[in-house]
Amino acid sequence: MAEVSVTKDAAPVADELVALKNVNKHFGALHVLQDIDLTIARGEVVVVIGPSGSGKSTLCRAINRLETVESGTITIDGKPLPQEGKELARLRADVGMVFQSFNLFAHKTVLENVMLGQIKVRKAEKKAAEEKARALLDRVGVGVQADKYPAQLSGGQQQRVAIARALAMDPKVMLFDEPTSALDPEMINEVLEVMQQLARDGMTMVVVTHEMGFARSAANRVVFMADGRIVEEATPDEFFSNPRSDRAKDFLSKIL
Ligand code: ADP
Ligand code: MG
Repeated sequence: MAEVSVTKDAAPVADELVALKNVNKHFGALHVLQDIDLTIARGEVVVVIGPSGSGKSTLCRAINRLETVESGTITIDGKPLPQEGKELARLRADVGMVFQSFNLFAHKTVLENVMLGQIKVRKAEKKAAEEKARALLDRVGVGVQADKYPAQLSGGQQQRVAIARALAMDPKVMLFDEPTSALDPEMINEVLEVMQQLARDGMTMVVVTHEMGFARSAANRVVFMADGRIVEEATPDEFFSNPRSDRAKDFLSKIL
């Protein structure tokens, strides 16, 4: 985990961890990412918001190469994304991703879910992997569920396991794509609180969310996307109190 501590008021040092330069992608005729330039500093928390279909998920998926892009460059810690093989597996470990659907392995216990990547990708010893998994499960508040199967847990608990599983790889950056959208309302806060704590601990995070309370309190920067473009970037205070573009004003008037 990065050592810089970040508060909303103190911008992190300008130490570029993720950089997208002039990135473009189409799905058929749809220009889903248009000239995307975005840099994320180590320790920074960037919240990405925008209407459905604006390219937020594609942006996240491009950063850990679940999607390829047609032009432009994406670098993590100064290195271009690897194309395939072990290098790609390591990239996916360096760039932790938490999806709307929890994507846990259904036939493995919670503990095994958090151990597996450590052993396979990071080549950890079983005992060390188990110790780390238990510590992370405690940290996200599901330690007592370690020996259960995912289906025996609530959605909020499963999502916290998914966060622990990503953290077990010692990621450089964590991507969250609408991590609370599939949850019952009473479970949203328990997941947001874990994410808040991660942000306070200095994790570099990209968070796609409609939770504006989280954006206001945890984000260093809000990135507003529409139609495949980054339309606006601002601090949360600036963005919510004084959105500049009509698209952002329109979006905010619908959700706030
Ligand atoms: P968001 O996450 O902001 O809702 P997405 O990145 O999921 O947006 O999608 C952006 C646009 O790309 C949408 O119009 C969506 O339908 C389209 N799209 C996403 N994935 C694919 C795909 N694999 N094939 C074709 N079109 C896609
Ligand atoms: Mg999406």
